[in-house]
Amino acid sequence: MHLSMSRIQLLSPRLANQIAAGEVVERPASVVKELLENSLDAGATQIEIDVEQGGMKLIRLRDNGGGIEEQDLPLALSRHATSKILVLEDLEAVSSLGFRGEALASISSVSRLTLTSRRSDASTAWQVQTEGRDMEPVVSPAAHPQGTCVEVRDLFFNTPARRKFMRTEQTEFKHLEEVVKRLALSRSDVAFQLRHNGRVIHQLRPARTEQDHERRISSVCGPAFIDQALSLDMTAEASGLRLWGWMGLPTFSRSQTDLQYFFVNGRIIRDKLVAHAVRQAYQDVLFHGRHPAFVLYLELDPKLVDVNVHPTKHEVRFREGRLVHDFIFRTLHRVIADVRPEGAVPPAGTSPDAGQLAASAPGASGQSFEQGRMPLSQAPLGPSADAGAPHSPSTQQGGGFQGAAFQGGGYRGPSASVVRDQISGYGALHVPANSEQDAAQQALANAQAQGEVAPPLGYALAHLHGIYILAQNEQGLVLVDMHAAHERIVYERMKQAYETEVVRSQPLLVPLSMAVSQSEADCAEEQAAVFQRLGFELSRMGDESLVVRQVPVSLARGNIEQLIRDVLSDMITYGQSQRIENHINELLATMACHGAVRANRQLSIPEMNGLLRDMEITERSGQCNHGRPTWTQLSLAELDKLFLRGR
Ligand code: ADP
Ligand code: MG
Repeated sequence: MHLSMSRIQLLSPRLANQIAAGEVVERPASVVKELLENSLDAGATQIEIDVEQGGMKLIRLRDNGGGIEEQDLPLALSRHATSKILVLEDLEAVSSLGFRGEALASISSVSRLTLTSRRSDASTAWQVQTEGRDMEPVVSPAAHPQGTCVEVRDLFFNTPARRKFMRTEQTEFKHLEEVVKRLALSRSDVAFQLRHNGRVIHQLRPARTEQDHERRISSVCGPAFIDQALSLDMTAEASGLRLWGWMGLPTFSRSQTDLQYFFVNGRIIRDKLVAHAVRQAYQDVLFHGRHPAFVLYLELDPKLVDVNVHPTKHEVRFREGRLVHDFIFRTLHRVIADVRPEGAVPPAGTSPDAGQLAASAPGASGQSFEQGRMPLSQAPLGPSADAGAPHSPSTQQGGGFQGAAFQGGGYRGPSASVVRDQISGYGALHVPANSEQDAAQQALANAQAQGEVAPPLGYALAHLHGIYILAQNEQGLVLVDMHAAHERIVYERMKQAYETEVVRSQPLLVPLSMAVSQSEADCAEEQAAVFQRLGFELSRMGDESLVVRQVPVSLARGNIEQLIRDVLSDMITYGQSQRIENHINELLATMACHGAVRANRQLSIPEMNGLLRDMEITERSGQCNHGRPTWTQLSLAELDKLFLRGR
């Protein structure tokens, strides 16, 4: 039959549903997603999922939710039937996970589906199935406790094209399990059980306390994540945005994006704007090609977000994208910046640098960030109806770092120079010049005697193999990777200087002329303005030569020629002018690497103490520019354990 000759006909309900199923039912995992969302929408607190053969043979989901009335059962299986919205305005502020009213109709058109349900006020349960091309519903009495059970057998038995796209049992189950994990993370207050071929794979109890909640995160994401995650809870009062959850330390990065969970009002999403904000926050603390791990919850007025942009609802549209982006970026950026050896974080408002820090954050425009610091003293909002278990911000950032090494100290981070003076003072007055250990102990004791809290990283004892600084603090022993730490400090300073347009430079005693390639000379000429902002003064002397007259003060002692070559090579890699601006942090990092003290240079005790003090006041000093840790702590208890010494 030629196409142009066929008559127009109404699709049969089954065919129409099968076509719709193409959009939402891709594989067993998508069925589980829809069924789980329905159970959560029905207020279930206990959900059991039984799966056979990766879900291809059977998916059975049982919940203890509100159930469905007998008369409504046939409707539940027909398309465009929902109990969740009535009028268009409801769509403006949907708080349920579903609302399109087509999941059950779609699924039942491509499988053998049975829906059994009982409301709490009903004397019996009822069951419904559909038959034929008109999907005629057949209702019969059944035995079932309060709640709903949906059984989906032989998915795609009548749509061979779809069936072909299913993978192995293990692959399908992996996808399905991932869906369960996501929803389990979105609702820690609900109990979940997942069984595959009769074996229990996940048994998650409802979380009531903060600790339960962390236990759930740990059983879903692995214990390593929660051990190396910073918890956060930030509310922007003016906009009502709240972001809370856990973000992995940069040192806990992954080769894949497999441990990234972002929920918007309890709904998991994958959104470009959010992804960008998160990536930017981790920007220069991660190795290239590594991905951060996080479980984050964004809560906002449902009116400010449109969830009806995609049938699977994985994407959302924020009414105020810019504001949301900035809020996410700045909150996370700040939490990472606070990963440094610091004592108890001072209460909001008392921090003298709060405003400054916020204002100097890259990209800061000051519209949505009410406070520079995490609001430790700010009461968290109660959880919204669909946003999961209660959460209190008791394990805040900073304090949670490195096994809470510095919790409890009232240390406020004195300026480096004060401590440096103190140290040299001790050296001159009390301490035999050859006894460095005594000096450190003395310094600690003196600090205590004067009622001061000793600095978190303590005082230096020795320099091991020209690489590590060994220091002693109140808790025990501290080891610092000198180069990594210094590199971070130099880098942070250069960034700050670059942003405020004062990279101080100093003239070279003897101008340095260097032979370069033609393209390097071209690049140096084209980028003269950038070089100038970076603190260099250099000019082209011929086709293949440059002369350097002035360099940044902080780098003046390094190998200038190698430095210039590396910067030129970066610039050529990053291409033309515009993009260089985007890569300025990479350039600064290259420069910082040159400026940082090299391994094998022996530092004096005051120099080492100076470095420790600088670390304490430098943002992100917990890791170097490449995401490696810069220091670690061995507590006395850990040392005792090493030597099997009972205390
Ligand atoms: P939607 O979720 O978009 O409303 P569905 O096709 O998924 O559409 O479900 C249709 C209706 O069936 C829902 O609106 C709800 O009233 C009812 N329903 C489905 N599953 C359950 C359940 N587990 N418990 C109670 N009611 C349910
Ligand atoms: Mg639904």
